[in-house]
Amino acid sequence: MLQEQEAHAAQMERTFIAIKPDGVQRGLISEIVSRFERKGFKLVGIKIIVPPKDFAQKHYHDLKDRPFFNGLCNFLSSGPVLAMVWEGEGVIRYGRKLIGATDPQNSEPGSIRADLAVVVGRNIIHGSDGPETAKDEIKLWFKAEELVNYTSNAEKWIYGTN
Ligand code: UDP
Ligand code: MG
Repeated sequence: MLQEQEAHAAQMERTFIAIKPDGVQRGLISEIVSRFERKGFKLVGIKIIVPPKDFAQKHYHDLKDRPFFNGLCNFLSSGPVLAMVWEGEGVIRYGRKLIGATDPQNSEPGSIRADLAVVVGRNIIHGSDGPETAKDEIKLWFKAEELVNYTSNAEKWIYGTN
């Protein structure tokens, strides 16, 4: 029992997930949140904000040399974004699976982008692509005190630690 709990704690990770302005405007917040929630991941931070353009540029700094960078940053700062931090075993990698490939035309059916979006420039959701990015993005979007540590009642049933 203790070993299971320790193994579980060691594999716990956090990722940054954001519903972009198109997803918010299209009324897809509850649909998207429920996919992460029903899977068994735990919501530890959430807020709705309109990110200023320079903030969007910071968030997407890796893409600054790409031709779509300016349009992408304008778009991200064009309206409310739902910023979230989700916690769970493997949540960084599996979160990307739930989201699907960048271009919805190539996303696997069943994934969020495949089911709910059509073009790459309006693919409704962002998710960190690895542990380092997750750490950086969580730090950029959230203050430490905006993230909540708690044990959910369901956790022992999700992870078999009961
Ligand atoms: N994007 C775009 N055109 C492209 C590639 C990407 O408009 O040809 C946008 C798209 O909204 C994507 C975002 O830029 O989600 C960030 O690109 P990235 O390659 O990091 O994809 P993601 O990590 O979001 O799947
Ligand atoms: Mg990316």
